Amino acid sequence: AAKDAGQGMFRFYEPGMNEHALARLNQENSLRLAIERDELVLHYQPRLDLWRQTIVGVEALVRWDHPHKGMVYPGNFIELAEETGMIEALGEWVLHAACKQMQSWQEHGLAPIKVSVNISPLQLQSGRITHIVSQALEKTGIAPECLELEITESSLMQNLEASMRTLMEFQEMGISLSIDDFGTGYSSLSQLKRLPIDTLKIDKSFVRDLTEDADDATIVSATIAMAHQLHLRVVAEGVVSFEQIRFLQRCQCDEIQGFLLCQPLTAQEVESFLRTSRLRGIECRWMQ
Ligand code: C2E
Ligand code: MG
Ligand code: MG
Ligand code: MG
Repeated sequence: AAKDAGQGMFRFYEPGMNEHALARLNQENSLRLAIERDELVLHYQPRLDLWRQTIVGVEALVRWDHPHKGMVYPGNFIELAEETGMIEALGEWVLHAACKQMQSWQEHGLAPIKVSVNISPLQLQSGRITHIVSQALEKTGIAPECLELEITESSLMQNLEASMRTLMEFQEMGISLSIDDFGTGYSSLSQLKRLPIDTLKIDKSFVRDLTEDADDATIVSATIAMAHQLHLRVVAEGVVSFEQIRFLQRCQCDEIQGFLLCQPLTAQEVESFLRTSRLRGIECRWMQ
């Protein structure tokens, strides 16, 4: 029966299925095929270091280049991938693709940057994740220092002890770790202090109204101060205005990511963005 079908198998229509289940099954099968047919692509969003005023990394963001629907964003398929267990295959593909791209950028002589890869809760708990990551590094010859893994605050808290062990392994491998969407989960200071992480990424929901909402401004500045006390770097996500940048600079935020600086780019666009921004000092435009 369909519900007994294991991973990697297709499930077929059974009489009695409702329309919703049928639609879901279709989606599920087409996502499975998408991975096999190489329809997934990565875009990369640059991260700007506010101190050095230079691009220090890019975040890999998966998209589904659908043959009929065009570009489909992760908000429309990551959850399904999680629920069906397909996230493991998808996540493995993303890790390999990101490392391979990094290798190619390095071959093209681009100044060294870091690539950040999002790791889903299920991947983190899978028990295979450290193996998959080290394979991606080995196969592409990428140094562990060039890779960062982003783990959401809520996924860490789902199983703190097990996550902790996995994070320690990553740390031993020399890989950087960041907490994504910080502020949306429920971690405490004492838990944070115990985690071998390097960076906090403040969720864009706090950054959005920073300049109008006094509460958000307090949350952001207090988070940055606290993170620095714990020797963590801070990235502000979703920066869209100069006013936000000025506020973040006053709070000594380390890095920004957001549409003001740049939308997620194709791999090729990243190359020209990096070359031209270095040549013309584009980054410094935001600093006035
Ligand atoms: P995230 O990891 O927090 O990634 C940042 C998201 O914010 C991206 O959306 C990015 O395009 C968007 N963003 C960047 N700057 C701005 C801005 O200034 N304003 C606004 N409104 N949005 C901005 P995207 O690419 O749609 O990804 C959404 C989420 O999907 C990601 O959130 C991440 O949780 C997940 N995701 C993306 N790629 C992967 C992946 O390869 N694996 C896994 N497990 N999850 C992924
Ligand atoms: Mg992320
Ligand atoms: Mg985020
Ligand atoms: Mg997110």
